[in-house]
Amino acid sequence: MQLENHQYTIQGVDALAIAEEFGLPLYVYDADKIIEKIGLLRSAFSGTPDRSVNLKIKYAAKALTNVSILKLMRQQGLDVEVVSVNEARLAQLAGFEPSQIMYTPSGNAWSEIQEALEMGVQLNADSLPLLEQIGQTYGSQYPIALRINPSIAEGGNFKIQTGHGDSKFGIPIDYRDQIKSIISQYGIPVVGLHIHTGSDFKDGNTFLKIADVLFDLAMDYPDLKFIDFGSGFKVRYREGDYATDLVDLGAKVSAAFRSFCERYGRELELCFEPGKLLVSESGHLLAGVNVVKENPTRTFVQVDSGLNHLIRPMMYDAYHDIKNLSNPNGAEKSYTVVGYICETDTFATDRQLPEVRTGDVLSFENAGAYGFSMASNYNARLRPAEVMVYEGKPYLIRQRETFEDLLRGQEIIEFEEELVKN
Ligand SMILES: *Cc1c(COP(=O)(O)O)cnc(C)c1O
Repeated sequence: MQLENHQYTIQGVDALAIAEEFGLPLYVYDADKIIEKIGLLRSAFSGTPDRSVNLKIKYAAKALTNVSILKLMRQQGLDVEVVSVNEARLAQLAGFEPSQIMYTPSGNAWSEIQEALEMGVQLNADSLPLLEQIGQTYGSQYPIALRINPSIAEGGNFKIQTGHGDSKFGIPIDYRDQIKSIISQYGIPVVGLHIHTGSDFKDGNTFLKIADVLFDLAMDYPDLKFIDFGSGFKVRYREGDYATDLVDLGAKVSAAFRSFCERYGRELELCFEPGKLLVSESGHLLAGVNVVKENPTRTFVQVDSGLNHLIRPMMYDAYHDIKNLSNPNGAEKSYTVVGYICETDTFATDRQLPEVRTGDVLSFENAGAYGFSMASNYNARLRPAEVMVYEGKPYLIRQRETFEDLLRGQEIIEFEEELVKN
């Protein structure tokens, strides 16, 4: 979002005009930002023409699962990474071939995994019991990838670290021999190795540590097609924030990968699965100001949204930049911005913002990833509409929910009489 002539614009479209047209609260995604991030990631790995690597980007759908977003990813030449069979179905609706869909369960029911396998997706197996089950059911028929837990504690918040030794994710690298023995017992074809160690690495070198684990393990499996480094890219939430240096990462990981391919004796695909990196910055949650409430100690701004729409501040202590779209040049003051949920529901504490008045429109920035996809109907609130700005035009890509959506599926018991009279 850019400030031009006192107004915030997305691809030249006034954000307030979008709010006016589609109503509030509203998620707005800038398709250009997504395309730009894909381009940055690709160019970081392009190397010199004769020394490039075979890069594949799989969009981690859980960050933002709207089908139009998935279609944009496919149009941009990406594959997709899903964690549930429903995400796989959404990806299929968006036009992805089953072979372009990698399915990474984490303790999912066997019945669900079988549904996904019947679709023909690439399975990324996350436990020894699952390997056994695959072997017993399919013998050597179904090629799989292995999700390994490298025992590396990296990444931001503990809730989003997945690669440390105590985490539930992946098959611990300590079980290397057990993995190999189940695989050879059934002759299960292993075509990929995968590690996803969580999000928000402080240090790009973490990918090199992951690389060491994967490259070493790869020597057990001669028929690999790809090595997948998962995600973990850190994005910038405010001025001065650390963000993963993609160029540095691309140079280091490509070099390590090329020399690995020489040792391995074949060119493999180098995969990443970014979610946040691709969609975080593209998304804005626009919300109207209901009340500006003075307390003796602070001034609260109460908006017509809350943790039901954007849970990241409460769940991860995440920082989201806030813009006052309708008064960008107001005198700065300190505000605590809160939602309307009956529960502590704070977006930002003691934040300097241009003067906020009732009826102003605020934008919560970096709201594309884990915003709408984690939204709920808590407090019987409706989920917002979603709009994508594509080639300078805003498109409604999901309608705002209605009261009927809250009732859908409820079977209402008709009691014959009041059982207890007061
Ligand atoms: C969530 C997830 C990702 C994406 O993580 P981001 O931090 O959003 O980039 C990638 N791979 C797997 C297996 C995941 O569960």
